[in-house]
Amino acid sequence: GAMLMAIRLRGMDAGETLALTQAMASSGRTLAWPPAWHGLVVDKHSTGGVGDKVSLALAPALAACGCKVPMISGRGLGHTGGTLDKLEAIPGFRVSQSPEEMRHILERVGCCIVGQSAELVPADRVLYGLRDVTATVDSLPLITASILSKKAAERLSALVLDVKFGGAALYPTQESARELARSLVEVGTHLGIRTAALLTRMEQPLGRAVGNALEVLEALECLGGGGPPDLRHLGAEQGREHLARALDDGSALGTFEAMLGAQGVPPDTARGLCAGTPAQRRQLLGEAKVCEELPAPQE
Ligand code: URA
Repeated sequence: GAMLMAIRLRGMDAGETLALTQAMASSGRTLAWPPAWHGLVVDKHSTGGVGDKVSLALAPALAACGCKVPMISGRGLGHTGGTLDKLEAIPGFRVSQSPEEMRHILERVGCCIVGQSAELVPADRVLYGLRDVTATVDSLPLITASILSKKAAERLSALVLDVKFGGAALYPTQESARELARSLVEVGTHLGIRTAALLTRMEQPLGRAVGNALEVLEALECLGGGGPPDLRHLGAEQGREHLARALDDGSALGTFEAMLGAQGVPPDTARGLCAGTPAQRRQLLGEAKVCEELPAPQE
């Protein structure tokens, strides 16, 4: 905690940030892939926002396009939501997978979404949880090291970072987010990963749903070719056509169902979620005690 607060208050230069990232990445095992996958192993990571369920739909959509996505993700940090918490709204879903299990899932399905563990970037697992309770979440070098240690352990060919700015992001202004994006691209590039960053607005929740189970439902709508346009369209122009096809022809949804099965969800549940009606889906996920609709009074 003291170290985190010192870093939060004093900052770190690029060399120190890179050293911390490398040390965190090598605190556990790193993944290894068959030579045939060279150039295909890719990932995306967001700096965090509200209602940001993009990873849930994008990982299977990329896999349906032929990529391999060994996504190591995180839990909620500060007020921003966590991909792992969202996935755990699905009964049976196991975020903890060994490197061997990940490889097996990537061979069969093409993507998996897992958490840090005793084997995978354990340093980030510890520091991530500590940052959440020591008010050190918004430190630029700590965000950089946290995200990129996970991505370095994944042994990626290419990485896209979604750097959020606005009232619901970790960084409120575009200038501060741009500084974070520069740090992420610089360190990512030093790690040998082709890294690109997009600055995207987080002044309002992404899509229409906020809350773990509700966000899974919205991601399923997107995977079925529907869902709100801001969720579907977040991303670069290039590749959008491929992804749109994967979302519209059901192949991304089929990949998501296969990923659920591979990560512990009973086949009936995975089927019901992916092929069921909205009411059947809601029943499978259960409903939160408080569930409120907030209609916008104007455009
Ligand atoms: N995502 C992470 O994995 N780490 C951060 O610090 C912020 C977003």
